[in-house]
Amino acid sequence: MGVVEGGRERAREGGRERAREGESKRGREGEREGGREGGRESGNEQVQGIMTYQFLLDNSRSTVSPSTGAVLKAEGLYKSFVLHHQGGTCIPVLEGVSLTVHAGECVALQGPSGSGKSTFMRSLYANYRIDQGSILVKHQNEWVDLPRLQPHQLLKVRRYTIGYVSQFLRVIPRVSALEVAAEPLMDLGVEPEDAYDKIRHLFTQLNLPERLWHLSPTTFSGGEKQRVNIARAFSVNYPILLLDEPTSALDAANREVVMQLVETRKAKGCAMVGIFHDDAVRERVCDRVLQF
Ligand code: ADP
Ligand code: MG
Repeated sequence: MGVVEGGRERAREGGRERAREGESKRGREGEREGGREGGRESGNEQVQGIMTYQFLLDNSRSTVSPSTGAVLKAEGLYKSFVLHHQGGTCIPVLEGVSLTVHAGECVALQGPSGSGKSTFMRSLYANYRIDQGSILVKHQNEWVDLPRLQPHQLLKVRRYTIGYVSQFLRVIPRVSALEVAAEPLMDLGVEPEDAYDKIRHLFTQLNLPERLWHLSPTTFSGGEKQRVNIARAFSVNYPILLLDEPTSALDAANREVVMQLVETRKAKGCAMVGIFHDDAVRERVCDRVLQF
């Protein structure tokens, strides 16, 4: 692992006043977790999708990436939470955080619990709305500013460009682990049997017992849910992957599988941002650190 980068400019105390009206009113429950919303795309979008399709579904060990250089640029992010039901208390969390990530590198977010790592990562997936700053993402060869996209544009960026392993899997009763994990592939128009094949392969790699594949993950252990979440996000070759503590509930053998998945993806040119509670994992897969 390389240089430690000072990501924070705590230059201005003003972050405190920056909470956006209406946004934080929703509080913790109101924020969205992961991109399951939205339906299938229209014919036009499908045509555009096909251009990136091969790369997104590439299983080969090819190291050729359609992108080189920077693919993600977060600049001067500010984010506060206002607790409207608790006397309007304002919690400034991000105060001028910047980060540029290049294809093929993994940047670790490191810092004490509560320092804003997950908030930053959720902002990079537009789950949280930032108060100030820009998040430029290279999407299908064009730069887009994530916080300023219309909802349908954001869905496309999530479908084709950014994958996200959230800390907790969002599960729905009666939807099987296979279906939960295959959803991103299906959204790309992959035939169900091909999508399920790919997920079965990933589940096998991740040692998820076969008896669980057709059950809803609602009753799964933390580590089992985590592996469904990992299979879901790694099933597509996203150019950018965000990993929020993907190995926190895994045993050593499965941690090793995840580290290999991360290394393979990096070699293919995927740009990653990761929060890893485990020092050994961070040391091995990350190229540099953004300190919180
Ligand atoms: P980390 O991932 O570094 O442990 P978080 O980003 O989860 O930290 O949290 C940073 C701070 O922001 C904490 O004080 C936390 O309580 C607060 N916070 C995070 N999400 C919300 C939310 N949705 N509403 C209110 N406060 C939040
Ligand atoms: Mg966190």
